[in-house]
Parts: sequence; structure tokens; C-alpha cells
Amino acid sequence: MYVVSRQDELGMLRIILERQYERHRTQLALLARQAHQMPRDAADLEAASALAAASRLALADIARALHYLEQGRYGACEECHRDIPIEQLAHQPSARFCTACQGDAVS
Ligand SMILES: [Zn+2]
Repeated sequence: MYVVSRQDELGMLRIILERQYERHRTQLALLARQAHQMPRDAADLEAASALAAASRLALADIARALHYLEQGRYGACEECHRDIPIEQLAHQPSARFCTACQGDAVS
């Protein structure tokens, strides 16, 4: 019987994180290129800059998660230091808090 260890699972999340990183970088590159093309109306520009801002935020989150992976502290809640469940990380690979602490932070 083969049991997947948490280390194996974190390794898979690294692949997801790297793909997301690439995707957001591509998104930003495309937006930057579009910005130099035909003039567009204000609503388009606003939508594009919102997309770019979201991608920049996501890139920062993903870069931090990858950095933590390098340091071996990825997947631990920054608040209570417990392991964040893999199911939660699979849904949100750059999560910094477990659901309990995330709930506290929001309220
Ligand atoms: Zn926590």
C-alpha cells in the first residue's frame, strides 16, 4: 500500500503554485501588450488595470508561498502554526492561515 505523505502532497502543490505563477505572469504580459495597442475606452482600461492589480497581488502571494516551500515552512498557519489541511491548500495554494484563523482575521 502506498501512502502519500504530506511532503509528497506539498510537492504537488508546488507544481500548482508554479503553474499559477506562470499564468499570472502571462496575464500581466498580455495586459501590458494590449495597453500599447489600439486606444480603448475608460471602462476597458479600468477592467484591464483591475485584472493587472489582481494578478500582481496573486503573484506576490504565490512568490511568498514558493519561498516558504523552499524554507520548509509552507503549509503551516501563520497564526496558530498548525498544519493547514491539504484540502484547503489545494483550493487555495497560497493560503497563509487555517480556516479557523482565517475566520478570526475576517471578523
Ligand atoms: Zn491557524
